[in-house]
Amino acid sequence: MTDIPADHPRYESLLTRHRIEAGVDEGITSRQGLIAQGRGEAFDYLLGERTTESADAAERAAAAHLLLADHPVLSINGNVAALCPGELVELAEVVGADLEVNLFNRTEERMAAIADHLREHGATEVKGLTADGRIPGLSHERAKVDADGIGDADVVLVPLEDGDRAEALAAMGKVELVVDLNPMSRSAQSATVPIVDNIVRAVPNVTRHARELRRRPREDLERIVAEFDAAAALEAAENAIRTGAK
Ligand code: ATP
Ligand code: MG
Repeated sequence: MTDIPADHPRYESLLTRHRIEAGVDEGITSRQGLIAQGRGEAFDYLLGERTTESADAAERAAAAHLLLADHPVLSINGNVAALCPGELVELAEVVGADLEVNLFNRTEERMAAIADHLREHGATEVKGLTADGRIPGLSHERAKVDADGIGDADVVLVPLEDGDRAEALAAMGKVELVVDLNPMSRSAQSATVPIVDNIVRAVPNVTRHARELRRRPREDLERIVAEFDAAAALEAAENAIRTGAK
């Protein structure tokens, strides 16, 4: 990225794209991940590449859910690992969550590469490699989770998740916090808290909210969770994309 000056108007977007490319070269991200990134970029462009007010409120509600959880788990796929590994390790520390590698195109090589990558960014324990649990209603490879990880979680953060699996996790009764730039995607639609924002902005902002909220009494967190309206958040995001509304 040395040939892209930091004052280039598309710097952040180009840097993000480069990270995904590097992730593919390192065996962390699948080639399909390149396509997913392109889809996300298009929505981000229309959103003005900013965290909208409604996305910020969703990020705050997500932080409250993670702090209230008995067993929160952050699910990591190849795109997420390439884009913000250190930020996810930090969020896991702040809210006391487990990190679990969870891939749509699961291969043992890529599972191991992502787990190593997360450890290089400070993770001490990475789940997902045992795969002794199953998500009901999904075919074999895509159903695999750790029984003491996502299998046991009450709250799961699933960024950029495939729609099918997001729906299956929701059907298991888990509180699902989804980061997805497309408010019309089934993943966002099945979420308890849909966060329509770029993962690179969303994760640090959830962490910021969690740091602020962890000093608050439990009733405050419960109120934030109860007052959050998922349908209104999706509507605000779609409206921002269609009309450019702030
Ligand atoms: P479904 O409609 O079943 O949910 P999909 O077509 O959305 O499926 P994918 O293309 O695999 O399935 O999903 C990738 C999703 O991730 C897209 O909705 C895209 O907008 C989103 N996405 C991609 N990159 C980012 C990113 N950096 N931050 C947030 N969301 C992203
Ligand atoms: Mg989707």
